[in-house]
Formats: sequence, C-alpha cells, structure tokens
Amino acid sequence: MQHYDIIIIGAGASGLCAAAEAQRTAEARGRHLQILMIEKEKSPGKKLLATGNGRCNLGNKHMGAEYYPLGDPSFIENIFAACPPQENLDFFREIGIPTFDDGSGRLYPLSRRAGAVVQALRTECERVGAQLLCETAVTSIKKTGRDYLVNGGYAANCLILAAGGSAGLRKTDAYNGYGLLQQNPGIRVTPTFPCLCGLKLAGGYPSGLKGVRNISRAAVYSGDSLLFAETGEVQFNADGISGIPVLQASVEAARALADGKPVTVALDLLPSLDADALRAFLTAVVRRYPATAAEQLFGGYLPKPLCVYLLKRAGVAPSAPFPPQKVPAFIQTVKRCDFPVAGTADLPDAQVTGGGADLACFHADTLEAKRLPGLFACGEILNVTGRCGGYNLMWAWSSGRLAGRSAAKKICNRQESSC
Ligand SMILES: Cc1cc2nc3c(=O)[nH]c(=O)nc-3n(C[C@H](O)[C@H](O)[C@H](O)COP(=O)(O)OP(=O)(O)OC[C@H]3O[C@@H](n4cnc5c(N)ncnc54)[C@H](O)[C@@H]3O)c2cc1C
Repeated sequence: MQHYDIIIIGAGASGLCAAAEAQRTAEARGRHLQILMIEKEKSPGKKLLATGNGRCNLGNKHMGAEYYPLGDPSFIENIFAACPPQENLDFFREIGIPTFDDGSGRLYPLSRRAGAVVQALRTECERVGAQLLCETAVTSIKKTGRDYLVNGGYAANCLILAAGGSAGLRKTDAYNGYGLLQQNPGIRVTPTFPCLCGLKLAGGYPSGLKGVRNISRAAVYSGDSLLFAETGEVQFNADGISGIPVLQASVEAARALADGKPVTVALDLLPSLDADALRAFLTAVVRRYPATAAEQLFGGYLPKPLCVYLLKRAGVAPSAPFPPQKVPAFIQTVKRCDFPVAGTADLPDAQVTGGGADLACFHADTLEAKRLPGLFACGEILNVTGRCGGYNLMWAWSSGRLAGRSAAKKICNRQESSC
C-alpha cells in the first residue's frame, strides 16, 4: 500500500492547478506534502491541448456569476471570491505564461499555444514535487477510516476529484468522475447533457446549406419566451447549425429540451440591417434590375446557397426576376427564419458537460464534500457551466486551486495539531 497526503484523480486543467496550489500552501507553512496525481491518459492535459482551437482561451476579462448559466450563482461567487480570476492570471504569469486580451475580453497565452500552458503546469507540478502517474484509470475509491483508498493500492488522507466531464471525448467509460462519485453515498449527481455545442434542426432544415457561414443573430425560444440570443458567425452543417452564438444559446436550449419543452431557433440572417433599411435596398435593386434572376441580386448581402434557400422559403423562384410584391415576404424570411430544434449535438461534439456533482453537497468555502470529509471536487465534474469565452477554464483554475489549498490546509492543520 502506498500512502500519500493527497491523491488527485485527473491531471487536467483543474487537477494540475490543485496539485501546484496544494504544495504551495504547504510550503508557505514550512511543510512538504506527498501528492500523487493519477491520470488515465498517456500524458496530462489532453483536453486542454484542444481548447480555443489549440490556442487555449484560458479566461476572460469580464467575470461574474452571470457568465455561468448553469450552477448556483452564490456558490460560484464564493469560489471566485476565494480564488479570484486575477490570482489565476498572476499564477500563470509566475509559471511563465503571460496572457493577452484579444480585444473582446477573451484571454489567451501570449504564445497562443495551449501546449505551452500544459507544459508550464506540468513543470510547476514537478517543481513542487507532485508525482504524476499516467496511463492509470481510477476505477474505485473507498473511504476506510480517515483515509481514502484508490484502486485498492493507494491511500491518502485527502482525495481531490478532478476527473472532468464527458464532453469532447471520443470514448467514455463507466469510470469517469461521475461513475466514481456514484460509488460513494453522500454526493448526488444530477443528469448530464451536452452544452456549448451545435443544435440539430428539424422542420425541413436543408442539408444543402452545409459549409455556409454567415453573420447572424441566433435566438432560442421556448414558445413565446426568448431564452437567449447572440449575434456572430453561424455555421450551417448537414443537420443543423453551430458557431459561437449557437454554442452560447445551446445551454438554454439543452436545459429547456431536458425539461421536455419545445425549443425553436429564430435566425436573423442580416442582423446589421433593420427591416426598413432592407426594404429600401430591396425595392431599389428590384426596380433597377427588373429582368435579372432573383438569386443574382443579393450576393453583397448573403452567401448564394443561403440566399437561394431564403428566396424559395419566401415563395420566390430564384432563377426568375424578383416579383416586387414579394419584397415584404422576403424581408420577413431574412429577418426571422425559424426552425424547431430537434436536439443538441452529442457529448463527443460538445465543449462542456451540463449537470454533474450537485453543488449543494459541497462546502462553498472549501469544496469539501459535506458528507465525505477529506473528499474535494473541482472543475467540470461539478454542476457548473460557463459561457463560451474562457469561462469554463477560469472555473477549472479557481475551483482547482481552492480544492488544492483546502486539502493542504486540512492536512497541515491536522499535522500541526498532532505535534
Ligand atoms: C474542443 C474543446 C474546446 C474547449 N475550449 C475551451 C476554451 O477555449 N476555453 C474554456 O474556458 N474552456 C474550453 N473548453 C472546456 C474546458 O476544456 C473544460 O471545461 C476543462 O478542461 C475542464 O477542466 P477539468 O480539470 O474539470 O477536466 P479535464 O481538463 O477534462 O481534466 C480531467 C482529467 O481527468 C482524467 N480522468 C478522467 N477520469 C479519470 C479516471 N477515472 N482516472 C484517471 N484519470 C481520469 C482525464 O483523462 C483528464 O485528463 C473546451 C472543451 C473542448 C472539448
């Protein structure tokens, strides 16, 4: 049996931060802890490498619980009060990762390389003496007296569950973090579902739009209630839409679908022009070119396949001249093109998992489980989902550092009181 002070399950974003922060906390008290990270992949931080298209959007200048549509806002505020986002950025600067703001508030490493972030976290964990065991999946955790027993062969006073979610993984197994939590009574796991993902559309959505990209406003509705709307580049796929505004709206759509409510997406395909401006333009161009095929008239405004689809949907033959009386119908279609949402993309194609370990089962000042003392959780395994834009990694850094700090304090307090 190998004994450690802290075992961390998962060497991803939150687990690597937890390991570094735990040892720093102990060092500040003149102590050194035996810390082991157990990682099932060949190397740590595999998912991190894919973040921000390989550039790692590691945070955002604009922070607050309002950027976390899933999760208890006061719990989230507590975690960020204990481990403020600025402290995470200071930590990254210290370990050799200065950041920059891309102009919209999104923060990236100056090198724009996720690989550099993983390497720096790994180097810091090595510096503080946290051990890393890769290619080892944790399949069982058990409480035995004051210790936790992992895979029957490793014991620790404290356990930090940093095993992440199920999103973005090509293969999943029963031994993800949720499965491990369910082995232990005392922590509820709420149903999980894909978030920050594309939407599958029904209602005659045309697969022929595949590959088209267009600046659009995507608004999701349940009945007449607007759930969320954002403008940006929408990508049209064979069975639905994606792109940042859709990813953002997918959280509200997924939640409503999970509640059994019907969801509609309404696209405004020319959000920079209001209906009056569009009417003036259409009327003028139709008058100027009365004999030209309708599909030739709007290339400066819309990609051709999208224009052809919208013309047909408005009852205009694309290859015939545009009938002036159809101007209002075309405007209406361009400004509000509705499709019923059939579902979200699947978890392997999502960036984040909605649902997970119920926050009510954890102390908001330490991330320790209320009914399992010595067990901490951090990162995506908890029922917190942030918007696209660096919010999920910021959650992973802050919650990971807080879990590491809390576990180290608990062990140091115990050691000091037994001296
Ligand atoms: C394609 C993609 C792009 C993304 N881009 C961004 C972005 O730019 N900005 C942003 O903020 N967020 C982004 N995210 C989300 C972000 O990556 C996650 O929210 C974040 O990594 C969660 O951190 P974590 O530590 O909880 O989990 P992870 O980083 O997933 O780490 C968990 C680790 O635990 C290991 N593990 C799991 N189960 C076990 C087990 N049983 N035994 C041992 N090890 C185990 C896993 O292999 C993994 O290494 C993106 C996600 C995806 C999929």
